[in-house]
Amino acid sequence: MTHKTVALVAHDHKKPELIQWSKTNIHKLRQYKLVATGTTGGLLQEALGLPITRYRSGPLGGDQQIGALIAEGKLDVLVFFWDPLDPAPHDPDVKALLRLCSVWNIPVACNKASADLMFNVVDIDAPDYQRDIPDYGK
Ligand code: PGA
Repeated sequence: MTHKTVALVAHDHKKPELIQWSKTNIHKLRQYKLVATGTTGGLLQEALGLPITRYRSGPLGGDQQIGALIAEGKLDVLVFFWDPLDPAPHDPDVKALLRLCSVWNIPVACNKASADLMFNVVDIDAPDYQRDIPDYGK
C-alpha cells in the first residue's frame, strides 16, 4: 500500500467497462487508497472485495466531493469513464471535476486505453515519477 489515492468514477453505461478494467488491474489497484462516487464504489467493492471510500452518487454531489479532494491536494489519479453519448443531469459537475484535474495537473483517464497506459506504462510510485504541482501563488 502506498500513500497514493486513486478515484474511480463511471457513468451508468460505462460502469461494466470500469468494473472489467478494475478486475483486470486489481493487482495494481490494491496498492492504492481507493475512493469512488457512490454507485460506482458500491459495484467495485462487490466486484473487487477491496476497501473503497464511497462518496455521494455523482448526481448528488459525489463528483464535487472528489473535486474537493483535488483542491485539497488529496488525490493523485482519477479514472473517470464518463459517457460521451448520454447527457447527464450533473454535467456541470463533471465539467468542474475535469477542469480541476487540469488546474492541478492530475492524471485523468477517461477511457480504458488511457487507464491501461496510466497504470501499466508509467509507475506512479516510482521514485523518479514526480507530478508537478502548479504553484498559483507566484
Ligand atoms: P455514481 O456517480 O457512481 O454514483 O453513479 C457517477 C457519476 O454519475 O458521476
